[in-house]
Amino acid sequence: MARAYGGTRAGASEAAAAAARQRSSGGLRPERERGDAKRRPPVDLPRRRLRVSSAFMAVLHVLTVPNPILSKKCRPVGPGEFGEELARFASDLAETMYAAPGVGLAAPQVGDLRRLVVIDPGNCTREQDDDGRPTNPRFLALVNPQVIEASKEMMIYEEGCLSVPDFEENVSRPRRVHIRYLDESGKPHQKWFEGYDAIVVQHEMDHLEGVVILDRVSRLKKGRYLQKRQKVRVRNDGSLEY
Ligand SMILES: [Zn+2]
Repeated sequence: MARAYGGTRAGASEAAAAAARQRSSGGLRPERERGDAKRRPPVDLPRRRLRVSSAFMAVLHVLTVPNPILSKKCRPVGPGEFGEELARFASDLAETMYAAPGVGLAAPQVGDLRRLVVIDPGNCTREQDDDGRPTNPRFLALVNPQVIEASKEMMIYEEGCLSVPDFEENVSRPRRVHIRYLDESGKPHQKWFEGYDAIVVQHEMDHLEGVVILDRVSRLKKGRYLQKRQKVRVRNDGSLEY
């Protein structure tokens, strides 16, 4: 995996501003949240909290580095594995994503090594009411996703990750990607993702290869971060000691 950590904060700001413009121009964000291009929502941690309610869904535990599961390459979902269990798992993954809150989550982040990610591409496609608010927050499950085409044009965005707490890094990725995937029922799809959605889907697909944003920075920076995290100790009362 190529490392891409040379981006500047200014670059990230431009990318964030462009993403914000894109969202605004699509009229897909609630009015009260538009025009805030200065703040950069990390990939996994948007400002807005969304919930999907269902008695059958469960919030799963999200693993964090240096858990070795996060470094493993995931296996494809086989033809005989589609059905109720996979659909329920995708729903649980989505519920976990919304609860975090996040806009994307990959199966290995909850300890499942199947090639499945969920994303919330609602910023660009969600139906909205008269006030511009989503009427029905929906997630997209991508099983065995593959990039079939990517734009030469790149985009730098300051990404965060639920599995790498308190860490953000400028990452350069293609601005547009064409993805082939199966849905939870095994039906094949092809879809172009652009801008922020493209970043989210590529970030989640990295997880399926065992790659987290921490793998995109220098060994020194990665080492410092891990050292800091491992020094954190949980006291008996549940508080953290640094
Ligand atoms: Zn992540």
